[in-house]
Amino acid sequence: MSTSVHANGVHRKHREPLPDAPEQIGAPPESSNPYKNALEQLDIAAQYLNLDPGIHEVLKHPERELTVNFPVKMENGTTRVFTGYRVQHNIARGPSKGGLRYSPRTDLDEVRALAMWMTWKCAIVNIPFGGAKGGVVCDPRALTPLELERLTRRYASEISIVIGEHTDIPAPDMGTNAQTMAWVMDTISMARGHTAPAVVTGKPIAIGGSEGRSDATGRGIVCIALEVIKEFGLKMDGLRVAVQGFGNVGGVAARIFHEAGAKVVAVSDALGGRYDENGLDIPRLIQYANRDGSLSEQPIGEAIGAKELLELDVDVLVPAAIENQITAENAARIKAKIVIEGANGPTTPTADHILRERGIFLVPDVLANAGGVVVSYFEWVQDLQCFFWDEAEVNEKMQAIMRRSYRDVRQMSLDKKVDMRLAAYLIGVKRVADAALIRGIFP
Ligand code: GLU
Repeated sequence: MSTSVHANGVHRKHREPLPDAPEQIGAPPESSNPYKNALEQLDIAAQYLNLDPGIHEVLKHPERELTVNFPVKMENGTTRVFTGYRVQHNIARGPSKGGLRYSPRTDLDEVRALAMWMTWKCAIVNIPFGGAKGGVVCDPRALTPLELERLTRRYASEISIVIGEHTDIPAPDMGTNAQTMAWVMDTISMARGHTAPAVVTGKPIAIGGSEGRSDATGRGIVCIALEVIKEFGLKMDGLRVAVQGFGNVGGVAARIFHEAGAKVVAVSDALGGRYDENGLDIPRLIQYANRDGSLSEQPIGEAIGAKELLELDVDVLVPAAIENQITAENAARIKAKIVIEGANGPTTPTADHILRERGIFLVPDVLANAGGVVVSYFEWVQDLQCFFWDEAEVNEKMQAIMRRSYRDVRQMSLDKKVDMRLAAYLIGVKRVADAALIRGIFP
């Protein structure tokens, strides 16, 4: 075990060594396939939990996978065929829940991984959902608003055979937003002949969306950061933060960090980023980015690459863009004390091993970015009850769940002397396995 492990406040304070369990030693060979990486993470937890081999086998496989190839009439008169997926990983603890991603790079294995991560995420924060994810292979920026609406409506219609308020509830993810959810909700409602708000979450407030949902993932990340920095003896005021990703997760997190007094020294989007040693003017950057679309050309601070940003000497690094950003290639150069995963799957299992050896404290995606799905849960409850809460109540209830979940995972990590990802999995995978065992196998 590396002595640098003890060099940061967290472990010294608790006089607890970091993991030296056999499962945590030896970096696995690196893969950029997210499903392979998700299985790797599950296997480590299963071994540690001594999981029943039959249940382990069940959890390795998504329960249901739907692939749809569907036509869309483009504005230039041509017809294009798009491929979409909806994968439901597990429903032992409730209907499956998870976002819908529009990306040219998405594929079945990515959606499988994201669905599995949703299962663990919902279990870790203890909300009554299983995990699912959807994806359509497309570049939403290359489509007109009308084409996007047609694509969304046709995709929603194609997957309507597997989604519903008591079966599987989509929400926004990369490349989709509240408007996308409104089209999905309307399409399902038209087919049913009545308005069905609880069929998706992340909707606009006007049609049954929840107050606080659009900020929820970013707000949850800052809430977790507050818990972590207390252990490190750091303060929010002047905390040096770098955020990779400037969308609904990274952009909101950067704004809330800034409002809370942190010094956000770097942010980036898909095309590049901005850096200022003394802290960036985040509200102005948001204004510019909303106007011009990209950060890379903005006249604030200096230019910085999205990969370069990851290696800055900061207190807190928030990778909030896409998968496989911290890998075997750059993990040894990460200088942040604390990594809080805003994206799903930004760190490969090999990089996890390297960060752990180097004493970098990482809060995993399945805990750190769960604020979004927690408020999705509140939205679903509000829609089913036709009874709506104000934003302060939503934020307070979400933060209470995030704090409690963080403390549960942290305690597990100290008790079992394992890192935060494995600790989170020990809680999440066990809850799902217990539910599956108690329910039994049908028939
Ligand atoms: N796509 C988000 C996630 O990865 C939110 C899912 C939801 O709200 O259902 O957690």
